[in-house]
Amino acid sequence: MSNHAARRAALRSLLAAVEVEAVLVTDLLNIRYLTGFTGSNAALLVAAGGDHRSTFCTDGRYVTQAAAQVPDLRTVIDRASAPALVREATGRLGFEAGHLTVADHTRLAAIGTAQLVATNGLVEQLRAVKDADEIQALRRACAIADDAFAALIADGGIRAGRTEREVGLDLDERMRRGGAEDPAFETIVAAGAHSAIPHHRPTGSILQRGDLVKFDFGARFDGYHSDMTRTVVLGAPQAWQQEIHDVVLAAQTAAEELVAPGTTGQQLDRAARRVVEEAGYGDRFLHGLGHGIGLEIHEGPAVAAAATGTIEADMVLTVEPGVYLEGRGGVRIEDSGVVRASGYEVLTLTAKNLLVL
Ligand code: ZN
Ligand code: ZN
Repeated sequence: MSNHAARRAALRSLLAAVEVEAVLVTDLLNIRYLTGFTGSNAALLVAAGGDHRSTFCTDGRYVTQAAAQVPDLRTVIDRASAPALVREATGRLGFEAGHLTVADHTRLAAIGTAQLVATNGLVEQLRAVKDADEIQALRRACAIADDAFAALIADGGIRAGRTEREVGLDLDERMRRGGAEDPAFETIVAAGAHSAIPHHRPTGSILQRGDLVKFDFGARFDGYHSDMTRTVVLGAPQAWQQEIHDVVLAAQTAAEELVAPGTTGQQLDRAARRVVEEAGYGDRFLHGLGHGIGLEIHEGPAVAAAATGTIEADMVLTVEPGVYLEGRGGVRIEDSGVVRASGYEVLTLTAKNLLVL
C-alpha cells in the first residue's frame, strides 16, 4: 500500500466515530497529504466503503499531473471540484468545517441529496504523527538550513556593516542553492534591540558590534518545513547577553529532556517556563514553547501553556523558549526534532553555545 493509500485508510477509520459515509476534503494541503497531488484546485471524497468508492476531482489544467500523482483513485475533471463531488454523494457527508467558507457551505448544501455534516481536524490529527517518508523530508529540510547557516558563518556573512535584509537574503539564497524549494517562512534576522521583538521582519538597519543577532529560519523540502532559531553576538558578549542566553539554553534543555510519548505540550511548556521564571525573567518569555511542523510551518501538536492533548511518538515539534528585554535585545533558541520512545531526536544540529562572531 502506498503512503497515500495508507493515510486514506487511516482517515476512513475515523469516519465511523463521526457517523458519516464519506468525507469531502477541500483543504489543498490535506489533499496533498492524502493523495500526493500538488496542484492549486482539487477536492477529494474519501468514502468509508474504501478507495474504490472514493473520488478525486481537479480541473482541466491538471489532467496530466493528476494521472501521474493520483493514479490510484477514480478522477473526475471539473473546474468546480467540490460541487462535482457533492453532486455524486448521498447520505451523511462530512466536510472540513475549518476549511470551508460559509458561502461555499451554503452553495454545497443546495446541491444534490447529501446531508452535510461538520467535521473538525480529522486529517490534521493524522498529519500530526509523521510516517518515515515525512520524517525523512523534515530531516532534509533541517539539514539544508543547518548547512546554509554554517556556510553563512564560514564565509563571514554575519558581520557589522551589513543590513538585516542583506544577511537574510544571503541565508535564503544559500538555502535555495542547498536544495530548498523556498524558505519555510520569511527569514527573521533581528539585530540589536530588534532581537527583543519575537517576530521581527528584517529591515535596512545595520548590524553593529556588540549586537545580539537572532536568526529564525527554515527550509521547505518536498513540501515539508524546518524551523530553527539561533542567536549570535558580534564581538565579546556583555554579561547580560551571556546570562539570558544561558537561561534560554537551560530552559530549552529542561524541556527537550522531558520530550517523550505520553507527555503533554503543557508539561513541556511548564518545564521551560519554570527555568526562565526561576532566573527572574518569567514575564520576558512572551510566547508558547513550540509547535508541530510538517506540510505547514505551524501545525499539531500544540506545545504551549494552554495546549490540550498528548505528545505521541513520531510527532515532529519545535522547542523554542526565548527571553526578550525590550529596547536592549533578546535570545531565542529553537530546535526541530522527532518524538521517539527514547526521547527527543533533534534534527537541527547547529551548535547552541552563544556563538561569538
Ligand atoms: Zn522559528
Ligand atoms: Zn517555530
